[in-house]
Amino acid sequence: MARKVIITVAPTGSITTREDTPYLPITPQEVAEETLRSYNAGASVVHLHARDPKTGGPTGALEIFRAYLDEIRARCPIITQITTGGGATGLGLGFEERFRPVEELRPDSASLNAGSMNFGRKVFPNPPEVIEQYARRMAELGVMPEFEIYDLSMIQNVDVWVRRAGLVPPPYQNSFVLGVLGGIPPTFKNLLALVEALPQGDTWQVIGIGRHEFTLGAMGILLGGNIRVGFEDNIYLKKGVLARSNAELVEKAARIIRELGFEVANVEEARRILPLLSKKGE
Ligand code: ZN
Repeated sequence: MARKVIITVAPTGSITTREDTPYLPITPQEVAEETLRSYNAGASVVHLHARDPKTGGPTGALEIFRAYLDEIRARCPIITQITTGGGATGLGLGFEERFRPVEELRPDSASLNAGSMNFGRKVFPNPPEVIEQYARRMAELGVMPEFEIYDLSMIQNVDVWVRRAGLVPPPYQNSFVLGVLGGIPPTFKNLLALVEALPQGDTWQVIGIGRHEFTLGAMGILLGGNIRVGFEDNIYLKKGVLARSNAELVEKAARIIRELGFEVANVEEARRILPLLSKKGE
């Protein structure tokens, strides 16, 4: 039987603006409608950042995250993931504030950034004590951490601070993020190096930034991984052509998966494949 490949959609992120693309969803209703369209196109996980409905800018506001989750859960059974990056660069939130939506809302999963780095010209702080604190608390809450791996060194960080310390029962879900300035450059060789460095049994997806979304994504699918698409990472369907919806990016990922001889995982299948902590406790 053909392997099932999971598509995650990241519909807004914290950096993309309406000037970049007029199709960016911002309000809870817009984000939920985009999520539903993406779910119908084959996405089984949604990765969320919150936006202020008035300004369109990123916010860490708990109530916005709550509204996003409520609106999405009312529409479809997609697996939910919220960021703990605090807008990665711009918001200057404290570590407690970055975690508060996870604490209060308990999504299926939350991102856990696996090291400090330069993110463009900003510093993105994720020191060992915060990685430990987030990992420990996510394990207690039954929220699956998705380790965001921006460089080879971060696989080692997860191994030393989380895996060997026994903070979360393995295996783990990982995202390889390629193409952020300050992280690992987006090349085929680098993706292969990341895949080869990962411990056996872990699941992973590729997040290729910009035009690398589908090239590195396709390579990831061939190597046994999953793929994330969406306006957080890329706004173009192809060179010079804006995607009019996140769902168009999901549809393209689904076409690539099928053309390569694999199948798109539905939510039920994705729940079986991913090391969700709610499942481990059963
Ligand atoms: Zn994100």
